[in-house]
Amino acid sequence: MSASRPVRGRLAPSPTGFLHLGNAWAFLLAWLACRSKGGSLVLRMEDIDPDRSRPEYADAIIRDLRWLGLDWDEGPDAGGPAGPYVQSARMELYTDSLNRLGRAGHIYPCYCTRKELRTLAGAPHVGDAGAAYPGTCRNLPPERRAELEAAGRRPCIRLRCPSQNYAFEDAVFGPFSMTWEACGGDFALRRSDGVIAYQLAVVVDDAAQGVTSIVRGVDLLCSTPQQLYLQELLGLPAPDYYHVPLLTAPDGRRLSKRERDLEMGALRERYTPEALLGRLAYLAGICETPEPASTWALSRVFSWETVRKKNITIINP
Ligand code: GLU
Ligand code: ZN
Repeated sequence: MSASRPVRGRLAPSPTGFLHLGNAWAFLLAWLACRSKGGSLVLRMEDIDPDRSRPEYADAIIRDLRWLGLDWDEGPDAGGPAGPYVQSARMELYTDSLNRLGRAGHIYPCYCTRKELRTLAGAPHVGDAGAAYPGTCRNLPPERRAELEAAGRRPCIRLRCPSQNYAFEDAVFGPFSMTWEACGGDFALRRSDGVIAYQLAVVVDDAAQGVTSIVRGVDLLCSTPQQLYLQELLGLPAPDYYHVPLLTAPDGRRLSKRERDLEMGALRERYTPEALLGRLAYLAGICETPEPASTWALSRVFSWETVRKKNITIINP
């Protein structure tokens, strides 16, 4: 942890749908953690997956974040020296990093189809990452690669992960030690259709945009060893990671885009920004009552000490 460097945070939405209460929750905590320390913020649109991202979602996300009263110093609409702030415009940087990893022997092509992986993996689900990749293509002889290429198979590119556990310190939850298997094993950096994987893009961008502190939902915990390891291999500085609990439905599921009444469009009809912020701050443990509050008032009372660590069930939003 580096307590002395100036704090620089980021809001990193994926424009694959409209924002909902669960996203507003995570972005509010990210914003407060940064602004309460006088830090600067970057807004980065993570539209790396062309099949799922849509520009109209990106516009709606910016509109909804602004409605809530969250702001940023650099972003797709604000510009800044570390742009572009849209991942689809940064492909060359990701490819350069992938090539560097390739020259150092850290990656390999994997020709497994989804169907093969389902049958090969066999083992029951471990962690959030699904069944771990069993390493089938790690040491394929060149002749076998040539055969698969000749048969028209297009590989994804995977990172060789070490066999030992990966230990790291979460700024909220403390020390963690995870097996690579629990996080999915050798993970993909580029899909077989050429799309760069989120893990690589995020690591390249966080470094290039000077991000020192990352606040995000605990559902992304498994990404942390993956991102820290990539930073290590690429010689990039490691930000501090703060994972925050999730808002969950009464059956324990993470709130998702399925809950239409929790989309920002619906919430905007029922709440003022201050009423919604006050309620979220109360759920987080930042305020003792759910009174309406502005973002800046909340930034003056925010402290990690009072933020809850357990997931929070939303019964009646
Ligand atoms: N864009 C990612 C998402 O919406 C978040 C990235 C991150 O926090 O590392 O899931
Ligand atoms: Zn494979």
